[in-house]
Amino acid sequence: MQRILIVEDERDIADLIAFNLERAGYATLKAHDGIQGASLAIHEQPDLVILDLMLPGKDGYAVFKELRRDARTRDTPVIMLTARAQTEDRIQGLEAGADDYLTKPFSPKELLLRVSAILKRSQAAPGAVTVDHGPFRFNKNELKFYLEGEPIDLTSTEFKLLLFLTERAGHPQDRNDLLRTVWGYSDEVHSRTLDTHMKRLRQKLGNHAAMVETVRGIGYRVLEA
Ligand code: CA
Repeated sequence: MQRILIVEDERDIADLIAFNLERAGYATLKAHDGIQGASLAIHEQPDLVILDLMLPGKDGYAVFKELRRDARTRDTPVIMLTARAQTEDRIQGLEAGADDYLTKPFSPKELLLRVSAILKRSQAAPGAVTVDHGPFRFNKNELKFYLEGEPIDLTSTEFKLLLFLTERAGHPQDRNDLLRTVWGYSDEVHSRTLDTHMKRLRQKLGNHAAMVETVRGIGYRVLEA
């Protein structure tokens, strides 16, 4: 059974999320402040964390950074919960590296859709464990990326984007296909963050940044090795 940690100080919201997740067959853990949330995530290693941003003790961004710094939770998928309806705030959450976000109030259906999309894509990809392409090497089980043999620290989103493009090298990939692959669906908020993710990815590729081409009017392409 997959376990989901809910970090939310508003107990009725935490209870409602837990109720819906349990009804869908997940096990849940709850924390009501940021300090307890970070500690439970690190020691219990849940399959996914639902993290409210406005928390006592330690806010959601601080908890998120702590999880990404710790080897035990650095790859744990995180859905940020935000009360802020502004597009810019949602973009900020995704650009900080969260796997997705939910804006309060959300429907149980929306919650379950995002949880199952993320758990599905965080499971090991089928087929060969490693993919080699020119200077790139991907280890799909460990979600590790190497550039000319050197490990490069990619976020899970960057890893998914680059792997998807690399497995289709030479062929331009449509923006909507990229969005659906990485987040499970496409919408305006996610579309706006795509270019930022690609820009950061290119920075990390350094001398090999030109391996990833922008294809005007379509999306992106990784060059053939
Ligand atoms: Ca809160």
